[in-house]
Amino acid sequence: MYNVAIIGGGPAGIFAALELMKLKPEWKVILIEKGVQIEKRKCLLREGYEKCPSCKKCGLLCGWGGAGAFSDGKLTLTPDVGGHLLDYMPRKSVEDLVKYTDDTYLHFGATNEVFGTDREVFAEIEREATLAELKLVHSPVRHLGTERSLNVLKNMQDYLEKRITILYDTIADQLIVENEQVKGIITKDNQKIEAEHIIIAPGREGADWLTHEFSKNRIGMINNAVDVGVRVELPAPVFEPITEKLYESKLIYHSPTFGDEVRTFCMNPYGEVVTENYSGISTVNGHSYANYRTANTNFALLVSEKFTEPFKEPIAYGQHVARLANMLAGGVLVQRFGDLLDGRRSTPERIKSSIITPTLACATPGDLSLVLPYRQMTAIIEMLYALDKIAPGTASRYTLLYGIEVKFYSGRVKLTNDLETEGVKNLYAIGDGAGVTRGLIQASASGVHVARVICSK
Ligand SMILES: Cc1cc2nc3c(=O)[nH]c(=O)nc-3n(C[C@H](O)[C@H](O)[C@H](O)COP(=O)(O)OP(=O)(O)OC[C@H]3O[C@@H](n4cnc5c(N)ncnc54)[C@H](O)[C@@H]3O)c2cc1C
Repeated sequence: MYNVAIIGGGPAGIFAALELMKLKPEWKVILIEKGVQIEKRKCLLREGYEKCPSCKKCGLLCGWGGAGAFSDGKLTLTPDVGGHLLDYMPRKSVEDLVKYTDDTYLHFGATNEVFGTDREVFAEIEREATLAELKLVHSPVRHLGTERSLNVLKNMQDYLEKRITILYDTIADQLIVENEQVKGIITKDNQKIEAEHIIIAPGREGADWLTHEFSKNRIGMINNAVDVGVRVELPAPVFEPITEKLYESKLIYHSPTFGDEVRTFCMNPYGEVVTENYSGISTVNGHSYANYRTANTNFALLVSEKFTEPFKEPIAYGQHVARLANMLAGGVLVQRFGDLLDGRRSTPERIKSSIITPTLACATPGDLSLVLPYRQMTAIIEMLYALDKIAPGTASRYTLLYGIEVKFYSGRVKLTNDLETEGVKNLYAIGDGAGVTRGLIQASASGVHVARVICSK
């Protein structure tokens, strides 16, 4: 019998475990992780494979550190970005949690440098953005880089392995619920694990499983928006005047034609574009290293769609659009902005004759207008023109658009302010899988919050 069982060894689960060990070192805590230890994690794409081989368990997303492990390690230090924690607690509490979480990353080896703290510089760029009808969100960023991010997570793993039980390569399969109270978990290999409190933190990788288990136990879900879009890659000098001051700029725009919100997301100066695999679907993402630079900068442009009754399947919608790209390209598709505007597909020859070399070599040149719905496509084109006003060259004919980038935020679980499920006692849902967060800091902060709640009970 454990005091607490945690499902998922991503930032949300890890920070819950760290805080539990800080507050109740004598407690018996178990963490169940579908993937392997951090040093054993492998993504074949990073070892030179041309196309994502659709591993049974995606090495990029599963294993100690979760989706954050090979991530760029950009810690966004504001309550306004990377999740919905402000919906559950006052701003001051979220600010304190962000600070506390950031300090913990520092304690385990994060770098000292933070970008975007200079208010005057921010105000200058904000002014230019306003003139282009763009809203610039103030969001200081601590950038770890992929290599350092792995070190920090390894340090946390070493620390926790000495203090709690960790089951790697183990999949939580069913929740045991009796009289509206959670009692334990049954794993795929039929282990029964009993615990007083259960924290579910399965990330986007486990969002489908979470939705299934929660609907079985009549735990309510709220439709989250789905974010569909492309990853933009351009020569780094185009965005340099902004990235050298802010590192990452969070810009929001409302498409004049449809009024939909489009935003920049996960900006990687001198970075590279990578593919991800979600249940056999190849999507696109990006990151940058701390000690290695490419000639390009990449960022996502995401269009938010919030569906109304009777539609309840935002994940399926996003998957459908991504599958279309995969169907046409056999994986990720890439198109030059100029070719898109000219109504023709990109070809390897056209890409070769550009001033920019794609960092994702395995993307197939094609035609995004056959994939993205008109509504999202229009919003992306309009946003590129708006960005061109503050970073001239963004709407160049050579700018590369990779598709599809989708954020499967899934349904958001109906939770109390303690992040406990409404309907099943002692069951908590945190991180990206619960639809509560969207980034490393808030995912980690949600873990800290829940651990404190449980310890105070
Ligand atoms: C390529 C990439 C780059 C990113 N870059 C950044 C960045 O720079 N900054 C930022 O803020 N955010 C970034 N993100 C997002 C960030 O990684 C996530 O927001 C964060 O990892 C979410 O944490 P989590 O713990 O909720 O989920 P995850 O990190 O996804 O972890 C969930 C874990 O649960 C495990 N799991 C799932 N189902 C089960 C099950 N049934 N049983 C047992 N285990 C299970 C998974 O294997 C996984 O390890 C990036 C994401 C990706 C993919």
